[in-house]
Amino acid sequence: MKIFLATSNPHKIIEIKQIIDRNIEFVPVSTGVEEDGKTFAENAIKKAKFAYEMYNSPVIADDSGLEIDALKGLLGIKSARFMEGHPYKEKNAMILELMANVPDDKRTARFRCVAVYYDGSPHIFEGLIEGKIAKQQKGKNGFGYDPIFIPHGYQSTMAELPSDIKNKISHRAQAFKKVAEYLVKKF
Ligand code: IMP
Repeated sequence: MKIFLATSNPHKIIEIKQIIDRNIEFVPVSTGVEEDGKTFAENAIKKAKFAYEMYNSPVIADDSGLEIDALKGLLGIKSARFMEGHPYKEKNAMILELMANVPDDKRTARFRCVAVYYDGSPHIFEGLIEGKIAKQQKGKNGFGYDPIFIPHGYQSTMAELPSDIKNKISHRAQAFKKVAEYLVKKF
């Protein structure tokens, strides 16, 4: 079975293949659509619909981000565009600076992912992982904001966890497991 995957983020593609380890051939396609929706779901549907209309074939797309309570829910849907053009080391350093005076119990945050399977209409699946923002960047695995996010129940950042653990517990893992269950029932 072949499904188009509407993302050009190589890290996401590797993670999604590891999460849905079934007999599905994922074909990555870049959409280049502007992610100007008000929610993760709106953005994911926009990407998926664009690719579906281009290839006339089922598509999976996702939109995801980091919500930090002390920053009033930022970065949220702006996660990819925050300090655009700067490396993540600098973005993460800025977040830690903004949160320098935030005490431990107020550093709560979560990664959220909305995955959409689009086959003419959207089927929406959501996953999230709760945690807190670390005091310093740690770890080399994963990507993006992983070095500053400590998942609930762990002592290390997401970037210190081996990829097989991240891909069992992450927001993307939870959303895409639901996609996989849906596809297994459907086909
Ligand atoms: P998207 O490609 O529009 O979904 O943008 C998601 C952005 O949120 C990424 O570029 C990262 O900045 C951040 N993000 C989403 N998922 C993760 C993750 O698993 N680890 C670290 N950062 C993430």
